[in-house]
Amino acid sequence: MAPNHGRRLFLFDIDGTLVDTGGAGLRALRQALPDAFPRLAEGHMPELDLAGSTDSGLVMEVFQACGVPDTPENRDRYFAAYLRHLRANLAVAGESARLLPGVVTLLTALSASGNSAHSTGLLTGNIKEGAAIKVEHFAIASHFAFGAYGDDHHDRDELGPIARDRAGRRFGASIDIARSVVIGDTPKDIRCGKALGARTLGVATGRFSAAELRDFGADTVFETLEETNSVLRALEVTA
Ligand SMILES: [Mg+2]
Repeated sequence: MAPNHGRRLFLFDIDGTLVDTGGAGLRALRQALPDAFPRLAEGHMPELDLAGSTDSGLVMEVFQACGVPDTPENRDRYFAAYLRHLRANLAVAGESARLLPGVVTLLTALSASGNSAHSTGLLTGNIKEGAAIKVEHFAIASHFAFGAYGDDHHDRDELGPIARDRAGRRFGASIDIARSVVIGDTPKDIRCGKALGARTLGVATGRFSAAELRDFGADTVFETLEETNSVLRALEVTA
């Protein structure tokens, strides 16, 4: 029997990894601008590189480009408008917003085999409430007992340790970070997994190809999460 090194974590990114909102998220970021700050129009929105970014990092960029002072009040106003639009956009998105292939089967298998051996959480640039809206919309919220979010820090590399510490408190157990896995669709997910000292699994269901994710140093790469048994093997989980 292998020695017990503590609980392993599987930390999932949301957009491009678990779900594709069909642009509902980006539209909400744009729509929130004139809603929160009536002197501004959607056209004032700068070009944003969403892939792997955090919402608070994006807001810093938006505020700077639009000359909005970065105060807690302005952030609250902007994010409140964003959440309203995100909810509304998802409500009318229909099939353009979808779960990515294999996600439900994989999450179900991980939940069923978890117990004290491993736990599944979120490691996402979405602010906490935005993340909740997305995972609830797609009925996968129950699979995630903890998480770290874009309103915890603007630098994604800082989110891994936050997720680790929350899991430690949540489960009252030691966490085996070296055998934990960060799962995501962008080079920033891979970088953040390495910053945490975890393993990394890249999935090419976002903007980056499998080859690109491999080049960025992902330990394992899949085209999709559809081949459940292969993914579980890569995660060293016995189904
Ligand atoms: Mg992503």
